[in-house]
Amino acid sequence: MRQFMYVFLFSFVHVLSESDFAKFDGAPPSKIAVVGAGIGGTATAHFLRQHFGPEVRIDVFEKNSVGGRLATVSVNNQEYESGGSIIHSLNLHMQDFIQQLGLKYRKSVAGKTAVFNGEEFILEETDWYLLDLFRLWWRYGISFIRLQMWVEEIMEKFMRIYKYQAHGYAFSSVEELLHSLGGSGFINMTRRSLSESLLELGVSQRFIDEIISPIMRVNYGQNISIPAFVGAVSLAGAQANLWAVEGGNKLVCSRLLKLAKANLIQSQVTSIELRSMGDYPQYEITHSSQDKKTSEVYDIIVVATPLQQNVDTGISFQGFEPDLPEMPGSYHQTVASIIHGYLNCSYFGYPDPKLFPFSSILTTDASELFFNSAASICPVNITSGFRRKQPQEAGVYKVFSPKPLEKNELKTLFKSYYSVQVTDWLAYPHYGSTQGLPPVVLHDGMYYLNGIEWAASAMEMSSVAAKNIALLAYHRWNRQLEMIDQKDLMHKVKTEL
Ligand SMILES: Cc1cc2nc3c(=O)[nH]c(=O)nc-3n(C[C@H](O)[C@H](O)[C@H](O)COP(=O)(O)OP(=O)(O)OC[C@H]3O[C@@H](n4cnc5c(N)ncnc54)[C@H](O)[C@@H]3O)c2cc1C
Repeated sequence: MRQFMYVFLFSFVHVLSESDFAKFDGAPPSKIAVVGAGIGGTATAHFLRQHFGPEVRIDVFEKNSVGGRLATVSVNNQEYESGGSIIHSLNLHMQDFIQQLGLKYRKSVAGKTAVFNGEEFILEETDWYLLDLFRLWWRYGISFIRLQMWVEEIMEKFMRIYKYQAHGYAFSSVEELLHSLGGSGFINMTRRSLSESLLELGVSQRFIDEIISPIMRVNYGQNISIPAFVGAVSLAGAQANLWAVEGGNKLVCSRLLKLAKANLIQSQVTSIELRSMGDYPQYEITHSSQDKKTSEVYDIIVVATPLQQNVDTGISFQGFEPDLPEMPGSYHQTVASIIHGYLNCSYFGYPDPKLFPFSSILTTDASELFFNSAASICPVNITSGFRRKQPQEAGVYKVFSPKPLEKNELKTLFKSYYSVQVTDWLAYPHYGSTQGLPPVVLHDGMYYLNGIEWAASAMEMSSVAAKNIALLAYHRWNRQLEMIDQKDLMHKVKTEL
């Protein structure tokens, strides 16, 4: 079993001290910039507005489309999610957003899942819950109960964040945040592999290979050596009680910008330069749109896009002493192909498509498999009469694969097809490509949101980071150090009114 040794590399993380905050004149910041209008950046704009009030100007820069990794593609005038698609019922920030924004939950359409090993289905969901449970027990013993209890315990601890944030507490690093929720256990979970943790828990190797591994492949395109924390998030996302936003998840982002009364600037930030030091440093953002370069000075900046080299945001940091080091590690390529066509059920051992009962196919880590998952998908708008297409009909499928599908691979999976739309994502961190967790504070007034993805990448994680950064920026600006990195928060929030 591969064991990951993590070392904390980020010596440039800005550590808070009283001397950092000398004279405080009580004036609010006048201008705040957020770079990136994905769920992280737009949620940050929303929370910044809540905390800093109506006077401050909030500019949000976006070089492509609002939504970032929340995006849709169109097939026959219907939109389908090509990026982040499912949300857990206990993701309370996302829940809160859709309520505040007047959005609706998208109805879920029932469908059965099976696990394919390259030759046959090794696990098939039936119409009978009890039969499924019995089969799980028969094949894997009590592994699935152990797993369920483990995931529930982690989720219960993770939920503490909502209480802490509601009480206004902030954290200056991802480590501090995780530690406040689950102590050193949570930090260790970002350093050791999922398989190691599960084996220790008494989950069988067979269960890991046949159930856990397919779930990691569909959710993160990676294997069971990913860290246990992100593994647990992925397993929570494989449970029931999942939802999505009617009309598309990206609607949350555009509506948050409106609610925050933020100015959307459709332009690529090319540099962030330190302009003045002192108690309240200022930063100059230069951005470029249609070959026109413009510069503007800000009091606070939130970078809400991954800064890893292979993501290529095109931002250079200037005037910082010492230089801000490059973020190590890389983002993982996952290709989402949205295919309109006829599934080749024979490939899966069902010559008669009418008898093919599954809507989602997960895969094991078999070397000959060229795809991670294939699923019949529903549009982002579901009308009351909607029904999922049967396998003998032309339907819309989403296939996740590590590389774009070759023609022969498409021909293997589909008897014929009308269209193929490919989104080649740098989807989430390539876990294990670096060690340690990136910093939140890049400089006195400059923050980085996407470090949290190295604990786990998900819409809710970006939203949690957004709330944390808004609180952190607010407390640091107002010199309220007692609200940052406090210990024993469980006790504190219980005794506070
Ligand atoms: C295929 C796929 C499936 C996923 N499935 C799920 C799921 O089911 N559930 C879930 O919770 N999560 C899922 N995720 C993860 C989730 O989508 C991400 O964690 C989340 O959307 C990240 O949001 P973000 O705002 O932090 O980053 P991003 O969405 O990447 O936003 C960053 C934004 O910054 C912009 N930008 C970059 N550089 C610049 C610049 N120089 N100037 C201006 N703008 C710039 C980018 O264009 C982008 O819009 C999935 C992701 C992918 C790709």
